[in-house]
Amino acid sequence: MNYPVNEIFQTIQGEGYYTGTPSIFIRLQGCPIHCPWCDTKYTWTCLDKNKISSEEIIKKNTSNQQWSLMNVEQILLNIKIKKWTAKHIVITGGEPCIYNLLHLTETLEKKGFRCQIESSGTQLIQCSLNTWVTISPKKNQNTLLTAMLRSNEIKYPILKKEDLSYLDKILSMVKNKKKCYVSLQPISQNKEALEICIKTCIMKNWKLSIQLHKYILIK
Ligand code: SF4
Repeated sequence: MNYPVNEIFQTIQGEGYYTGTPSIFIRLQGCPIHCPWCDTKYTWTCLDKNKISSEEIIKKNTSNQQWSLMNVEQILLNIKIKKWTAKHIVITGGEPCIYNLLHLTETLEKKGFRCQIESSGTQLIQCSLNTWVTISPKKNQNTLLTAMLRSNEIKYPILKKEDLSYLDKILSMVKNKKKCYVSLQPISQNKEALEICIKTCIMKNWKLSIQLHKYILIK
């Protein structure tokens, strides 16, 4: 199976449960959600005019709308050529769950990687059983019960205090679920949102996700 890849790079995971973990990011192209604060708007559409070869994607080092179809063997070859050492792979987007990620995650695991998916929770999640699933629900979108049940972690973006009411609503969908980590993430390093997140995390014993990569100025 081929996946539309926007970019692949090695860095440190800056968000959620795996913050600080050396990671290879596979960013897939395509997202139907269109959140106003999205910081990867260039991934929304898969236009033919922006399609490039897999060799060009491997060399790409700027964020833009270019993408290429790649299969898992080409992805693994790229990791080998670059001599990357991270063992954690983050499949992100865009919205990666508009694609069936079962073959990709199972194959990467067989090669010794641990997989993580970052999704909005609005799509059916198709991945290996061991994949760590991070859901970032969006308050004006329909968060699927199946996504909530499959998730290992809810990473919720906050701008205003009122945003918390949607989180309460979706958490009540899965109140008997064991082992689901919740973290709050201020949108775009907004100071007021950060204060709300700190206060609420302390009160609820949730985790704070600050997008570490943006503070230490790495990708
Ligand atoms: S779901 Fe993610 S990629 Fe899609 S618009 Fe929202 S923040 Fe951006």
